[in-house]
Amino acid sequence: MPKVSTTEDTLPKSFFITTLGCPKNTVDSMSMHQSLLKEGLLPAAGPEASDFHLINTCTFIQDATKETIQTILDSIDLKKKSKQRLVVVGCFAERAGKEISDDLPEVDLHFGTGKYDKAGEILRKSFPLDFKEAKEFNEDLLERLTLSSVIENYSKPYSYVKISDGCNRGCSFCIIPNLRGKFKDSSEESVLVETKKAIAAGAKEICLVSQDTVFYGKDTDKLLDLIQSVAEVKGLEILRLLYLYPDKKTEKLLDLYGKIGHIAPYLESPLQHVSKDVLKAMNRTGEYSYFKSLFEKARAVKPGLEIRTSFILGFPGETAADVDEIIRFIQEVKPEKVNLFPYSPQEGTKGFDLPGKLKDKEISKRVNLVRDVYLETLKEIHQSRIGKVYDAIVDEVIEDGSMVRRLQDAPEIDEVVFVEDANLKVGQTGKVRVDSFYELDMTGSWI
Ligand code: SF4
Repeated sequence: MPKVSTTEDTLPKSFFITTLGCPKNTVDSMSMHQSLLKEGLLPAAGPEASDFHLINTCTFIQDATKETIQTILDSIDLKKKSKQRLVVVGCFAERAGKEISDDLPEVDLHFGTGKYDKAGEILRKSFPLDFKEAKEFNEDLLERLTLSSVIENYSKPYSYVKISDGCNRGCSFCIIPNLRGKFKDSSEESVLVETKKAIAAGAKEICLVSQDTVFYGKDTDKLLDLIQSVAEVKGLEILRLLYLYPDKKTEKLLDLYGKIGHIAPYLESPLQHVSKDVLKAMNRTGEYSYFKSLFEKARAVKPGLEIRTSFILGFPGETAADVDEIIRFIQEVKPEKVNLFPYSPQEGTKGFDLPGKLKDKEISKRVNLVRDVYLETLKEIHQSRIGKVYDAIVDEVIEDGSMVRRLQDAPEIDEVVFVEDANLKVGQTGKVRVDSFYELDMTGSWI
């Protein structure tokens, strides 16, 4: 039975979760949120107002690690002004638990990945005095808080649902398998429960996330069945699939894109490189022509579909000719959205000891070179969008207008269209015409 104190002198303790990193972390934070509610803690409006401040960390690349450390240091400063408990959770805690214990005594507790749904119990065990006055919790309130917690910030028309955790691929630059362990898929039943909860809380769009979506069900059709079942959930208007490894399974999945109308016209498939040699050193599959045909197929099965991909520049042994291949790919295939990461060696990965390391300065030069090419291509892409009408959803209404997202754009990652109409409603679906653009975002009219 969930507990919380109910009298003035034993007010319930509150919590706030700061989430860093990717949408997968957002889902894990939601799971922690629900676990903390069950133990009788209440959500606080911000970190400064909370009794427990939890930081769900990221350490995917060097920049993410730096951001995590800075956030912890800032939170230590904040904590000094109160009796707050600071709890560090997730990937960075998994990787650097000893360093946190040794060097950051201000952190009251840390625990790694895989325990998000037990966060409440862990806190209760670690800080029993903070929970000892708890009395029985009002079930209705818990139900309402749990539902509202499904939608981040309580007002977003989309929600993330995680279908698996961990990864078996072993890309030689990636620390995630060390942090998250082997691939484990969630049952179809639990994915459907989470989807229905999110829809009941007001979400119109569900984004299925994982470290490796197409690994779900391995060589079976379980993933196709899962997507079909989720797509049939009543009230779901947009289904978005994220992180599709560029291989045969993604190719097969694309057939479903053509058949299920409300799968968003969006392919997120991180290539990381297009040079066969670099991909081999990265322990990844594919090469230029395969990726080109995969992306062409995606555009053919779902007209209007847009593609997000990513590239890592400066992997050990990468030559100038390899960089030219990426440039040629961007100019020829024109993926609409491109993330560029400078390679950063991660201790514990196979790439860490590879010969042929490049200097940071050279890596930055390569990233900037490719970025300039991409931004030039993006101008053409934007130009071709002007005057076109897109299916869209309203993400946010602000004082002088609304932030509208075309279905070709994923929440929080991609571009938005600013519309000078503040009478729209969050979650409203309809059509937007693109009128002009900035470097990334656009302006338009709701029609
Ligand atoms: S597919 Fe590769 S890059 Fe992605 S999580 Fe797995 S090991 Fe990391």
